[in-house]
Parts: sequence; C-alpha cells; structure tokens
Amino acid sequence: MTYRTNRTSIIVALALGAAGACGREGNGATVTSRTGALAQTRAGGAEGVASTGSSPVGSTTASSAGDIAKRAGRLDPNHLGRIPILEYHVIGGTKNALYTRTVESFRKDLEDVYARGYRPITVSQMLDKDFRDVPTGMSPVIFVFDDASAEQFSYIENNGSLEIDPTSGVGIWLDFKKAHPDWKNRATFCMLNGGAAGHNFFGDGPRWRGQHKQWRLQKVKWLADNGFELCGHTLWHAMLNKYSDAVVQEQIARNIMGIDSAVAGYRVRTFALPYGIWPKNRELAWHGSWTNPKTGKTQSYSFDAVLEVSGGPARSPFDPQFNPRSITRIEAIGDDIKHQLDRLDATKTRFVW
Ligand SMILES: [Zn+2]
Repeated sequence: MTYRTNRTSIIVALALGAAGACGREGNGATVTSRTGALAQTRAGGAEGVASTGSSPVGSTTASSAGDIAKRAGRLDPNHLGRIPILEYHVIGGTKNALYTRTVESFRKDLEDVYARGYRPITVSQMLDKDFRDVPTGMSPVIFVFDDASAEQFSYIENNGSLEIDPTSGVGIWLDFKKAHPDWKNRATFCMLNGGAAGHNFFGDGPRWRGQHKQWRLQKVKWLADNGFELCGHTLWHAMLNKYSDAVVQEQIARNIMGIDSAVAGYRVRTFALPYGIWPKNRELAWHGSWTNPKTGKTQSYSFDAVLEVSGGPARSPFDPQFNPRSITRIEAIGDDIKHQLDRLDATKTRFVW
C-alpha cells in the first residue's frame, strides 16, 4: 500500500479483486520446467562461466537448475557491488499493477533470482555484514514485503487445523523453498497493524481472504520464529510529511507496540517510509517516542535502517557511501526487477560474496 495520494480506493479494489482470484492449485509442473529453461538461459548468458563440464542441459528438474545456478553464480567477489532489495506489495490478482504482483510473476521472480545465483538475506543481516547465508561466489538479494496484506500471508482451516495458504505470498515462498533446499527463510516484512482494507497484520476479518482477526499476532510471531525479519511501516500508512512531530511518533510507536504484542521484546531494527515520504523532522523516522495518554506508558523506537521506496539497487554496507538511514529499493513493477538485474550483470556492478 505504498500507494500515493488518492490511491486508497484503488488498493481496496485490488485487494478485494485479488482475494480468491488465483487458483489454489499451483501449476507445479509448469513452474519446474520453467526453472530448467531459465537456468539454462542464464547459464549461457552474461556470466560466461556456464560451459564447465557436461551440464544437465535438457533436464528440467529443480535440482539441475540448482546445479547450473551454482556454477552460473560463481563469480569473483565484489564486496562493493550493489545489492538488489526487491519491494513487494499485494501478491495475487490476475494482472500485474503498481502494487500488485500476480502469483505467477512472483514465482517467476523467485526462479529468476535463484537461477542468477542470488540467495536471500534480511535487511538486518545486510546491516551486520552477515553474509553467512550466501555461498562464496554468489550474491545476496533482499525481498521486502510491505503493508501486511492478507495476500502476503493467509491461513486456511483444514479439519480444524491451520495451514498456510499455498497461494499466499508466504505459501509460495515455502513451496519454492521446498523445491530449492538451499533457499532459506530470509526476507523482511514491513507491516501495518491498523491499515485499511485488511492491511493489518495480514488481514483482520473474513472479508480479507477469510482471515480471522485472532490470527494476526500468530502470523507475525510465525514469521519471526521462522527466520524472517519484522520491520515497521507505521500504524496505518500515514503520509508522514503531513503530520506534527507528535503524530509521526505516535504512528511509528504504535506500530512497534503492535509488533511487540506479537513477539514480546522483539527489537525492530528496520523501518520503511510509507510512500517513501520523510517526516518534516527527518530524524523522527529513525528515533522517537510516544506516551500513551490513557496508560501513561512511553514507547520509544530506534531503528538502524530506513528504507526508501525506490532508487535502484542498494549500496553495499562495505561502501563508504552506504547510508543505512536511506536504503534504496527496486519496486516489483512490470519487468523492472529483471532489467535491474540484467544491468547489474552487464556492468559487473553486482555484489558478490
Ligand atoms: Zn507501504
């Protein structure tokens, strides 16, 4: 929901339209063969290191794609290169739009970055220069999911037990991980806990893909328990330049309180600016506090990283010009991700561990 002014109604429509629009059954066979095709394309492409030995060309299994990717991705280290941070909103619908990525396109994105030799890390890991999840000669990629829509993370009830909906963003991620065992649960979720149209910890009522309100905190905790990073994004996506310092801090602090309700004591280190818009008092984007007038309790916040909405691949944390309070991202719009990744390869400016 990084929609700009007047986009609320559009997003509501999109969110509604996306719910249930995609079939429950993933076309696994198609995706698998596409994996092979993609990997072969990449392996013979810009990397120029794919012609080693007898490759399983013609094979279409996920593991052969992985083998090819490992060779294709084995590049010389470049710790000053750029890191793509991919920004997603709603996963679903029947057509790609500014804030909607179809299930098929999302799957393709995963296959594409995998075949190019990228492996996922979180923003926090990037800050800490923690690249242990990236094999030598491969590259980090950061997936960031904004706005906490039900399309990103849905449950379905099956004979009284809860399962992750395989057609929601997290379900697709887990399917992908199952087919690619060296793909880890590393992504950053920048969540709203009081947004409109179900953008409230992944759906706050049955209108949003049948998501019950009482599942909200459980989902947030599941993410933290399973390797993902929790990130702040304000209470209801306020355009921060329009408000007083007090309201800015309330918006951010109440979001952090919500996350704390799900995972007590969790230190939120990353914050994504709604619409990429800074508050008038810029530093309130990374630290501040708010006192609840009803309880007298003060909630403070202090972030290590602030995410912009756009700006292209991010600087490396080893780059002297790296500014953790203004980290750029690539929006998942049209073919933008593919073009940016192509450019990183063509210009040899990609971060390689
Ligand atoms: Zn947003």
